[in-house]
Amino acid sequence: PLIPTPDYLVRLNPEQRRAIEITEGPLLILAGAGTGKTRVLTTRFAHLLLTGRAYPSQILAVTFTNKAAREMRERVGAILGEPAEGLWLGTFHAICARMLRRHAEYVGLNSGFTILDTDDQLRLLKQVMEPWRIDTKRWPPNQLLGVIQRWKDRGLTPDRVTSAEDSDFANGHALAIYRAYQERLTALNTCDFGDLMLHVTEILRTQPNVLAQYHRIFRYILVDEYQDTNTIQYLWLRLLAKRESGPSNIACVGDDDQSIYSWRGAEVENILRFEKDFPGAQVVRLERNYRSTVQILAAAAGLIAHNDGRLGKTLRPGRDDAEGERVQIIGVRDSDEEARVVASAVERLRGNGHALSEIAILMRAGFQTRPFEERLMMMGLPYRIVGGQRFYERSEIRDCLAYMRVLAQGSDDLAFERIVNVPKRGVGAVAVQKLHVQARSLNGPLTAAVRSQLSGGALKGKSREALAGLMDAFDRAFAVVETEGHVVAVEQLLEDSGYLQMWRDDRSVEAPGRLDNIRELLRAIGEFGTLPEFLEHVALVMDMEGDTSEDKVSLMTLHGSKGLEFDTVFLPGWEEGVFPSQRSLDEGGNRALEEERRLAYVGLTRARKRAIVLHAASRRIYANWQASMPSRFIEEIPAEYVEVSGQTSENRRHASAAPSMFATGPLTSSRPSGFRPPRPKVTALKSGPSIGVGATVFHPKFGEGVVTGAEGDRLEVNFENGGVKRVMASFVEIRS
Ligand code: ATP
Ligand code: MG
Repeated sequence: PLIPTPDYLVRLNPEQRRAIEITEGPLLILAGAGTGKTRVLTTRFAHLLLTGRAYPSQILAVTFTNKAAREMRERVGAILGEPAEGLWLGTFHAICARMLRRHAEYVGLNSGFTILDTDDQLRLLKQVMEPWRIDTKRWPPNQLLGVIQRWKDRGLTPDRVTSAEDSDFANGHALAIYRAYQERLTALNTCDFGDLMLHVTEILRTQPNVLAQYHRIFRYILVDEYQDTNTIQYLWLRLLAKRESGPSNIACVGDDDQSIYSWRGAEVENILRFEKDFPGAQVVRLERNYRSTVQILAAAAGLIAHNDGRLGKTLRPGRDDAEGERVQIIGVRDSDEEARVVASAVERLRGNGHALSEIAILMRAGFQTRPFEERLMMMGLPYRIVGGQRFYERSEIRDCLAYMRVLAQGSDDLAFERIVNVPKRGVGAVAVQKLHVQARSLNGPLTAAVRSQLSGGALKGKSREALAGLMDAFDRAFAVVETEGHVVAVEQLLEDSGYLQMWRDDRSVEAPGRLDNIRELLRAIGEFGTLPEFLEHVALVMDMEGDTSEDKVSLMTLHGSKGLEFDTVFLPGWEEGVFPSQRSLDEGGNRALEEERRLAYVGLTRARKRAIVLHAASRRIYANWQASMPSRFIEEIPAEYVEVSGQTSENRRHASAAPSMFATGPLTSSRPSGFRPPRPKVTALKSGPSIGVGATVFHPKFGEGVVTGAEGDRLEVNFENGGVKRVMASFVEIRS
């Protein structure tokens, strides 16, 4: 009592302080979103150092993402008043990579080993599979890689795979191939990502001296987001924490309601097992949420109450100043309007002095970013995609664009070169080199060289067949443009060229998302009258980068938003089949649906002050529109915490009278004045308002200018800074 409480503890509530002051023995901090779990972990780190219980190098702190690791390092540094260095602080994989470098010899590697990426992994596995003569159509190597990864996630080296866990994949040869694959990796002094944890865990299991060494080093272990650990991570933690003598000083923080990675092998049961595995474990519950307003909190609590089998936690508002606004539910017509409403609201928030960095748009799936990106870009609102790439920069999108560019203009050599061997057609660098030579002598493009070589018989065997097939695909698609339109043509081209099949055959976790992106791309093309128009649009959109401001709106997936917080959170696409996802609905039963609901809970609880949920009445599937139902999660939020606006019948049912800044915006006035939105539908093409010669327009890139010529949707504009340019009408605002 005589010693004053240090400053960094004063700012905590009694339970949080308890969670920090119980320094010895196993500790589980079980608490809902925004209760300060991560803050407790960070403060605990500093506390251990400041009270002389450990040196920085004696604390092992595991975070879920590299970003979280960086933040924790900064927060610890701030509390300590100096940069924290030499820490064992990072993701499971990062820490394991460092450990494996020290002990590589125990698993037959040397410390200079390399880590393979997915492509190399697959190439190697294919080589290894050869002697088995597996029918790779039936048993795609990618899928086998998945089987192997799941074994690794569960800590199963080839020797530990029992008959019960064996897979009948590849006619029962999976295990033998797994063994051969591991042997080959070792022979090459390399390992894959999954091996980082597998090897280290194996070393800790079998080398008592190494384990003892780490028991001496790590006096304290801290783990964030414990609910999302998988089996191997759990085994690894348990090995490190359970010491021969002395207590297990392991503190894990988690929230069963935020377990959202079961699809990657995470086992929420690890939380339930904690007290059994670590006898004498203390459990601290934090109940005060300091992040969100009362309204948001109550809405999120009401939603998650629909899940069964929860551990049950109380969540009370921690700030007494924060009654806040209700959760906004906005019904819109379609995804264009959705993007428009969100972007306008963002602009209004900025106008009212809110920082863009305090605004996030969180979606269920990566492909959903596209309409928001385009809209934000057009309005000059800077954004960043967190944990991913901008839509038009994603590699599968770039591939598809290259196909389209060749279709639109056969002389686009750069585009042709990108796709000539994607998917793999056996057209190697040498063949392409020859094409270049021929093209030069013909003084024409690569496609002309191909045609000339095909007719001249210069090409042989596999590459002849491959190139002939590719050119056929282009020719057929070209004919289809005239008859059935460019959307069908592009889709057929991607099909005939084998490009779509390439991703269908790909069993990596990213593949379905890539196909979703491509579908979204096809939707986007449908919004334009012709392929060249669309390509011009894309070129412009991609060109509009270059803003270096730090203050940006964050776009990311719900999964990627875990642990983060923002003043304002937009949650678009709350519709059955989008969120909850179609996959979760198809699976039937409650398991997948409950995980979606947890994801919704994660989304809502990212918001400090404002949460805005949107749902569209219909979504475009190519040129058609499909009606969609509002997500059941909307219904599940207790009515007293929401405020509904928009025009769908679903909304009218419990529409509230109180207007809000979001309800009165573009929905009632339809669109911000003076701004001409891009044509939302093909049908609107001919009827849309036209911009005449003499009009003053504003273009996001070239600034203000006067229209000097107009032809359909193409304008010739004399810009103040930039001179005369041809641009698309959908890209300019009318100023007068
Ligand atoms: P999540 O479950 O989303 O990961 P969390 O439990 O880790 O959330 P934190 O991110 O640590 O929660 O904290 C949420 C917010 O509340 C942060 O802005 C944090 O600074 C603030 N906070 C935590 N504890 C207190 C406190 N005692 N007083 C004031 N603010 C607090
Ligand atoms: Mg956290």
